[in-house]
Amino acid sequence: MRILITGGAGYVGSACLRYVAERGHEVLAYDNLVQGHAAAVADHPLVVGDIADTDKLTATLTEFGADAVMHFAAATDVGESVKDPEYHYRNNVGGTLSLLNAMRAAGVRRMLFSSTSSAYGLTDEVPMTEKTRLQPMNPYAASKTAVEWMVRDFAHAYGFGYMFLRYFNACGADPDGAHGEDHRPENHLIPRVLQAALGQREKIMIFGTDYPTPDGSCIRDYVHTRDLADAHLRAIEATTPETAEVFNIGTGQGHSVKEIIAACEKITGRAIPQEVAPRRPGDPTALVADPTKLKTVLGWEPRYTAIEDTITTAWAWHQGHPDGYGDR
Ligand code: UDP
Repeated sequence: MRILITGGAGYVGSACLRYVAERGHEVLAYDNLVQGHAAAVADHPLVVGDIADTDKLTATLTEFGADAVMHFAAATDVGESVKDPEYHYRNNVGGTLSLLNAMRAAGVRRMLFSSTSSAYGLTDEVPMTEKTRLQPMNPYAASKTAVEWMVRDFAHAYGFGYMFLRYFNACGADPDGAHGEDHRPENHLIPRVLQAALGQREKIMIFGTDYPTPDGSCIRDYVHTRDLADAHLRAIEATTPETAEVFNIGTGQGHSVKEIIAACEKITGRAIPQEVAPRRPGDPTALVADPTKLKTVLGWEPRYTAIEDTITTAWAWHQGHPDGYGDR
């Protein structure tokens, strides 16, 4: 299959790109490199462009002869979305509208969309199935939820197939140590804790210890990018122009912020300075997947089931690449 990957130079997009390419698909990354890194695409082809540029996208899809699109390009920072929702709606909703129009013009009839577990937001239902009601509680999650509705309507009216993949917390690095997480600024928990272990960050702030969880800190389901990528491979190979599906991608296990810090201390063998801070606006209490549907329908099984194994890959990346990809 020829697969165009928007956001293909980003953290999750590039992990999926490398994985599906390893398994014989022809890939093309399309990325504006605002957040992405050309080095993350390795020696695969990259077109530098913005998804808002419908003409460039249409020409790229047509020239490449794309059979399918994996759509990762998005603004993803929850805290930033609370402060600047316009940017998130413009990038995520406006950008996807542009992509859908380019796909229509180029006759591309299969799409995977990177959605998010945070769309479940304010629910008491843990773990979440795909039928759990969507109650996004921050502008990032709301923009992703809006895109789901938009893609569903376009697919119905204009005839293409889609799958929505609702990710829980992507983490980890390629086991060969060559590719990993490098966000600027870095706001995600595991890389921040590992940066503190390396002395690149003075301490880790725990955003809230008054949540209704056993230790008071937020709970998330941390899924390795290789396992995420394997879900994408299975999903794209099962998508036809008639498909209309939603899958959660998570391990089914939740870990609190404090548990993550303790696991990082164990793996790095270093004490990590930490301090309790106020809650971060927009943070749901607990997000844990029920991945039964992904397992039964697509035969997916996560290989990284122990959080220590996942953190070990991330630690190898951070130690080997203290300056990330070194391009910022
Ligand atoms: N978190 C934290 N300190 C940090 C970064 C994150 O306590 O320096 C918490 C955050 O409040 C959330 C969890 O760690 O409960 C995971 O946050 P992250 O930004 O990694 O992912 P999110 O769940 O927001 O997508």
